Amino acid sequence: MTKAATASAQHMMTDSRDNKCARQNPHLSDMSESDEEGLSSTKKPTLAVNPAPQPTPQPIAQPTAQPPPQLTLHVQQLDLTSLPSVNGVLTLNNGLRLTAPPTGGFLTPQLGQLVWRNVALALRDKWPQKEGPKAWARTFRAQYEENAQMTNIKMRNLIALIIGEAAASSLLISTPSAEGELFERLQPPYNFLISGVPQSAITRLTGLGVCSSPDITCFFIPYNQPLPKYICTLECFTFPDCEGSNSGIAALVKQTIRMHPNISHFIHQHIPSPDAEAAIKAIDSIRVTSLSIAVSRNLSHTVWNIYVDSPPNLSLKDYFEWSNLIRDLQFTSEDYGTGLVCSEDRQFLCTGCKSYDHPTGLCPFPKILGWFSPATSTNDDTSNVSLDNRAHTSQNSRGNPNRGGRGLVGRGRGRGKRGRGQY
Ligand SMILES: [Zn+2]
Repeated sequence: MTKAATASAQHMMTDSRDNKCARQNPHLSDMSESDEEGLSSTKKPTLAVNPAPQPTPQPIAQPTAQPPPQLTLHVQQLDLTSLPSVNGVLTLNNGLRLTAPPTGGFLTPQLGQLVWRNVALALRDKWPQKEGPKAWARTFRAQYEENAQMTNIKMRNLIALIIGEAAASSLLISTPSAEGELFERLQPPYNFLISGVPQSAITRLTGLGVCSSPDITCFFIPYNQPLPKYICTLECFTFPDCEGSNSGIAALVKQTIRMHPNISHFIHQHIPSPDAEAAIKAIDSIRVTSLSIAVSRNLSHTVWNIYVDSPPNLSLKDYFEWSNLIRDLQFTSEDYGTGLVCSEDRQFLCTGCKSYDHPTGLCPFPKILGWFSPATSTNDDTSNVSLDNRAHTSQNSRGNPNRGGRGLVGRGRGRGKRGRGQY
């Protein structure tokens, strides 16, 4: 499982990044109508993104419900790929500086939790009732804040500069409150609810996906949280870390899944309309990439992420339940041992982007040219070892090489325990 690190700089994916994850489409919707507040307009915004945001002009909390936005208001298309960048930074006509999307677009963080997780029950009841289009926003390195005022102000400034002040005139950024204390790393909730803006503005924000500016970096995701493609991470194989191993493991995973018909049956029992090919297509699309995790200066070990490129048409809750069926399997190869799914206490969870498919130290975002947030190397949570957040628990459940099979599989993954798909 461990092997000599052959390339110390190769901590990230050994697979091509193009094959790594789904990417944001760098192009936005085909909105053709524009308004005077569009980013290409030369009109100066009334709000500037200041190093020290001024708290007075922004509605932090709006005591009364805002009227629904005028549906006739459209936001001009914003195609960041068409703008020239300098050292990875784009400067829009209104002065906003943003990280230019890398070739192929930004990666999509593979979220393993519902955005509603640990949101106060009262908000879970009221937020869905907000009229008009909605989306979610969270910051890079988001964490639950009892006082989110500064985050709210910076987020509001950024959004106004992206969608235009007119479209943002009724913008409401609802701040999450926690239902309880979870006593876990990166306790949610940290997703803010955006409403009070036209659909074109929502489309623009979610189309961009990621906006990294000098003041704040935000991820925007649709209100109906998209399905992730990430299923799980396998460890304990003795495969060499190479492309051939990735395809060999993918074949083994598919073969193993096909030997468990309950996994296909689950899809057909939960998809909204009959589709005889649904399970076949999903399983056929499974692919594997590797991560090399440094454990010391001279040693690293390899783990393999499993993705489904064509996730079945399930609700997010059902998707997590379906992928947990796969996470309950073990994958025995002819020559390279048995791959075990990283259990919940060893599950990756990136502090920065909240993706489940890499540790914080391997987060791809700070490595993007022009990224504005501090590099992860300046963070306490970023040594090679500590960045593998699983290393802290290596002495417990999965640290025992003598334990039989997947004895712990059923624990820690079920409902009521922390982990993927929890509310
Ligand atoms: Zn990350």
